[in-house]
Amino acid sequence: MELDKMDENDWKYHGEGNKSLVVSHVQISRVLRLLKYPAEDSENPPQTAEQAFRQIQNIVDFSSNVMSSLLGEKFIHSGEVVKLPLEFVRQLSIKVQHQRPAWRCDKVMDIYSGCALCLPNLTCPALHQPTHTPPLCIEIKPKCGFLPSSKHVSKDIKTKVCRFCMHQHYKVANGKWKSRSLYCPLDLFSGNRQRMHFAIRHLIEEPQNNFKIFKGGQCIYSSKEGSDDSLDLNSLLHHLRPYFMYGNNRINSHMTGKAVLNDFIQVLVNALLSGGGGGDGGLVTDRRGEGRSFCEASLFNKERIRHGSQGLPSDTVLFRILQTQMLDTLDIEGLHPLYRRVEQHLQDFPKERTHHQIDGPYNEAFMEKLQKCPTDDDGSVEYAVAKVHQYRVAMTAKDCSIMVALVPSTEEEEDDEGLSSQRRLRDFLSSRPPAFSYSVSILDLDPKPFDSIPRQLRLDQRIVSCYLRTGGALP
Ligand code: ATP
Ligand code: MG
Ligand code: ZN
Ligand code: MG
Repeated sequence: MELDKMDENDWKYHGEGNKSLVVSHVQISRVLRLLKYPAEDSENPPQTAEQAFRQIQNIVDFSSNVMSSLLGEKFIHSGEVVKLPLEFVRQLSIKVQHQRPAWRCDKVMDIYSGCALCLPNLTCPALHQPTHTPPLCIEIKPKCGFLPSSKHVSKDIKTKVCRFCMHQHYKVANGKWKSRSLYCPLDLFSGNRQRMHFAIRHLIEEPQNNFKIFKGGQCIYSSKEGSDDSLDLNSLLHHLRPYFMYGNNRINSHMTGKAVLNDFIQVLVNALLSGGGGGDGGLVTDRRGEGRSFCEASLFNKERIRHGSQGLPSDTVLFRILQTQMLDTLDIEGLHPLYRRVEQHLQDFPKERTHHQIDGPYNEAFMEKLQKCPTDDDGSVEYAVAKVHQYRVAMTAKDCSIMVALVPSTEEEEDDEGLSSQRRLRDFLSSRPPAFSYSVSILDLDPKPFDSIPRQLRLDQRIVSCYLRTGGALP
């Protein structure tokens, strides 16, 4: 990829979130992630090119120096900042505009700075051969997987119903989504196969912005927000069926949609419980008590888990994400007074902002501040800064996505393993589900700004009071 010879025809719209828009290269396994900002500001960008460059460099540093050591290097691809020709960026923005979902168009792509983040395309692993079955990639935005136990929590409901489930009621009440998702993160993070299966089934039923499926790098399943057509589960089954035909099913092509979906979810659960490539799966007992790892809003039948949670193996992606999320030990209610302490201090001593690395740089010194935090509040600014840093890291872990790539094992590979044709015939006829190799990554690891903390407190209060008002009685 030569940065001075960029051609918009080599790139196509790939997807977007709230903060950035992503385009993918049509031949090589690369994406460009460009910043977005509110459409009102489209005439005058909110920051200079240098500031945009700094912002993206901060994202790279935060991901590679902070999140990577907490989540595990093997899951992280931090990418690099690139400077693109402005004409290329302008043409690109025109090209992708009509493919963008209408509900995302309250923001526009940054066409002024020429800066972008260049990353490997995680939906299309580089080794994929066009002659082989394309890989399936599943993107899950799991959200927060634990109930707060901080003594600062003022409303009892927060210790019983998880944030995601309460937030669903709030979003439906405010018209953001038409219907509530029955996905509960605590089920996904439980390590219990049945609960994880249940959680993923509900992600498929109501994906919102928490679930997407890609085939050979193309998004084939995601939420159709804004449009009235219901999700096309049949079209998904049509895509998935060839991956899950085996044994008798392959011969008489008789496999119910339910069976295809069950197999698909099972493979995904296996991938999430695998070490994500290498490493031994040491089983760590879940330190959370059974009572606290179950959300009262989840429809999973509690009777079925009377034997308790198996806990997540310590080398799994879910375990690492959950551990990082749990750096939020005080809850926003306990954290906010510490934020105020830091804010007051910075008002009195504005120059200290740099010393405390409030806006980065996200380097080893930042990591040290984060880790060398005293257990008890000694009233110091240092303690408050460390807790704020920890909280922001936890926020990033509550907002990241997991990408699971499933590559069907090819017959050539089986040949390599020296399988006899007899054995292959037996596998062909057997009822054993087909084999996949997995690779698991984590994406979207941007640092959350310091000033977003007061907003977090207000949002928390609104969500909780909405839930208490409606009594969780929405459809
Ligand atoms: P959010 O609103 O969740 O914070 P965001 O604006 O920070 O999102 P991302 O989540 O990083 O943006 O990217 C938007 C989408 O682009 C992702 O959901 C994913 O589908 C796709 N994407 C991002 N990075 C990659 C990558 N490296 N490879 C493939 N697809 C990617
Ligand atoms: Mg995202
Ligand atoms: Zn829940
Ligand atoms: Mg993000």
